Amino acid sequence: MAQIKPTKKFVKNPIQGTKFAIAISSAKGGVGKSTFATNFALALKKSGCKVGLLDADIYGPSLPKLFSINGKPESQEGKLIPINKFDIQCMSIGFLTDEQTPMIWRGPMVTSAIKTFTQKVSWKDLDFIIVDMPPGTGDTQLTFAQEIKLDGAIIVSTPQEIALQDVKRGIRMFDKLGTKIIGLVDNMSFFKGDDGKKYDIFGTGGVKKTAEDFNKEFLGEIPIYPEVGKYGDQGKPIVEALPDHEATKIYMGLAERIKKEYLD
Ligand code: ADP
Repeated sequence: MAQIKPTKKFVKNPIQGTKFAIAISSAKGGVGKSTFATNFALALKKSGCKVGLLDADIYGPSLPKLFSINGKPESQEGKLIPINKFDIQCMSIGFLTDEQTPMIWRGPMVTSAIKTFTQKVSWKDLDFIIVDMPPGTGDTQLTFAQEIKLDGAIIVSTPQEIALQDVKRGIRMFDKLGTKIIGLVDNMSFFKGDDGKKYDIFGTGGVKKTAEDFNKEFLGEIPIYPEVGKYGDQGKPIVEALPDHEATKIYMGLAERIKKEYLD
């Protein structure tokens, strides 16, 4: 983990044009953070909120693929205009670069990219901006949590021991930086076969236990559903594609809860 400096020195700027910023974070790549962020954003929209989605995973942006966005954002009066898709205001570094270009960022560039995305984008009248953070506890996460006013963070993990070790690091980072952790989500928690049996592919119970150990809320499980992957790959996430699917209901339940907690 990069060194954490005391929070008090930093002035945390709110993201202009937004009421609440919620970070979706994971300690490791590949646990389903972006899949969660996109579906959760869509679920909030379906529950009646005005939503923006900021793909801050500058090293591995997923939003162009997950939302099937090929266009480039326009700029007006020195600000980037988010691309509107599924009624969500979207921004990603992936809109500005081509897919094949590797992202090589150094410290100051990271800071400046984050500033651009949070201060130089015309987000309009949003109830929530969902920020898909890069995985881990490195410079980008630190810069973000130190400089941007985040109203809460949701940590996504699989139940594997190796992922959980890093989750603990992530919890400590947010705690030290004074970012409220809304709770932990256990993603790809199990797979239910056609035989009706539950298969614990990545182990079981670890995320819940970590939440309990750190006195954080456990927000629930999202099993492995092949359709979640399939519709993400097709650029129309499951919440948008299959409104009655079990996975959609889980995302909707969470969204309704967060909406109530923040907006009511
Ligand atoms: P991350 O953002 O953490 O790197 P992704 O969101 O890209 O992870 O997800 C990694 C892979 O896991 C993707 O192929 C995605 O479709 C798949 N995936 C994520 N969550 C689920 C789920 N609940 N069920 C099935 N596949 C999932």
